[in-house]
Amino acid sequence: MLDISFVLLYLNKDGPGEGGTPVIIPKKDEKKMKEMFKINEFNLMASDMIALNRTLPDVRPEGCKNMIYPNDLPRTSVVIVFHNEAWSTLLRTVHSVIDRSPRALLEEIVLVDDASQMDFLKLPLDEYVSKLEVPVRVVRMEQRSGLIRARLKGASVSTGQVITFLDAHCECTTGWLEPLLARVGPNKRTVVSPAIDVISDDTFAYAGSDVQLGGFSWNLHFNWVPIPKKEMERRKGDLTLPFRTPTMAGGLFSIDRDYFQEIGTYDAGMDIWGGENLEMSFRIWQCGGTLEIAACSHVGHVFRKAAPYTFPGGRSHVIHKNSRRLVEVWMDEFKDFFFTVSPEMARVDYGNITSRLALRRKLQCKPFSWYLETVYPDAIPRHYYSLGEVRNVDTDKCLDTRGRKANKKVGIANCHGQGGNQIFSYTADKEIKTDSLCLDVAKRGGPVMMITCHLEKGNQMWDYDPEKLSLIHVATNQCLDKARGKNRKAPSMRDCRHSYSQQWLLHNATLPEISL
Ligand code: UDP
Ligand code: MN
Repeated sequence: MLDISFVLLYLNKDGPGEGGTPVIIPKKDEKKMKEMFKINEFNLMASDMIALNRTLPDVRPEGCKNMIYPNDLPRTSVVIVFHNEAWSTLLRTVHSVIDRSPRALLEEIVLVDDASQMDFLKLPLDEYVSKLEVPVRVVRMEQRSGLIRARLKGASVSTGQVITFLDAHCECTTGWLEPLLARVGPNKRTVVSPAIDVISDDTFAYAGSDVQLGGFSWNLHFNWVPIPKKEMERRKGDLTLPFRTPTMAGGLFSIDRDYFQEIGTYDAGMDIWGGENLEMSFRIWQCGGTLEIAACSHVGHVFRKAAPYTFPGGRSHVIHKNSRRLVEVWMDEFKDFFFTVSPEMARVDYGNITSRLALRRKLQCKPFSWYLETVYPDAIPRHYYSLGEVRNVDTDKCLDTRGRKANKKVGIANCHGQGGNQIFSYTADKEIKTDSLCLDVAKRGGPVMMITCHLEKGNQMWDYDPEKLSLIHVATNQCLDKARGKNRKAPSMRDCRHSYSQQWLLHNATLPEISL
């Protein structure tokens, strides 16, 4: 295996995936391909065909390409944690770091094996990396620990002034490192992520993408959000300047070693995966730091639709526990909002957080209300009449997003009391809102769509009559009604008659009502 990959490394210049092009698997291999896909939840067969040092397109904004950087940039250790990673993706990450980082800036690469089970990740990996021209250290967790504690281990054995974390299925493009170090070097309290490009989980094609900022959904999952006008204006049209971002994706970022310590590294009480990126984001902002995306640094990442590995204790339990810890430590009075959206989180055993609370006190961090006002005003509605299910009096059924995203019809389903898809807020701006989507009616008779909220009233403005219990769509002067006719799974819009079918109970689960 090792000899073959060295051969591939040097002979395959016109081979599959070169230049970031997609790999197409011949029809005859499709069955095998699908089998192999399950191992890592990406197209392993395609990845294995691509050279470990393939070429990539230069997707940076033009102005980045001739940028001159100071010659006193700090050196970085690159820490890559992995559990059961594929050989080809892991080593392609390593080679892309070595090939595209100025040697003077790269202290070492640290690979942290989080108790992987594959044999090739043991001795063969040690031997392979020992032959590389940059010091690569492999350290191993004694037992499966999750990415948080694995990164802590990697950080503790590394020595560079800056620590740069990467996932184990990344590819760094030309000039990726300098923009990160150029921000962290002079600004110790600035934590910087690259612009993260998409490596297709299906074809391994490399697609440069426009920068989006990090946000989070009401159920505390990281998401990408468009760059607000204000942030665009702050940068005055200069495409090479870094963006300030409310949160980070978490897999890829650079941080000054001393600041990493000072700010409280990670919450080591978090398990496996999830929530740690939001926790760190809130902590950085609330405790006086800055979180940025360096527009000139482009690194590709294989985004997967599912995790290929186990979550000891159960996936949902682990994620709820991690989220609960960050809510308890950082979110003050807003935690009730998140408990309403995720009632399961409010029930989970989340362990001891005393030391994290002590850290917050020691660092004299600002309240979450400051974060919401200053850093991320669009995160959750600050003023609202209700938050919870929207229940029809006639049918006893609830509005339900049915897990659908923007530009789809809102649904109706049996009320389940489990939050999530049945949580809507009737806001002080008179929207019926769920996450960043608002119920929107474009013409008389419906349909009722979920459209990105625009705060311009129009088709998204509703009056609620707390006595008649009716939800009146202002622009059409019609009322939200139960499902009718052929479509039993979506509400209808009818002229207002104040029948039971047009009566809706807006549930205000835990927060005091703000009266209209
Ligand atoms: N990882 C780990 N231990 C775990 C879970 C994940 O070391 O228990 C590693 C994983 O191999 C990857 C990184 O942590 O390099 C981030 O995980 P993943 O890529 O699955 O997260 P995603 O990018 O999908 O958010
Ligand atoms: Mn990943």
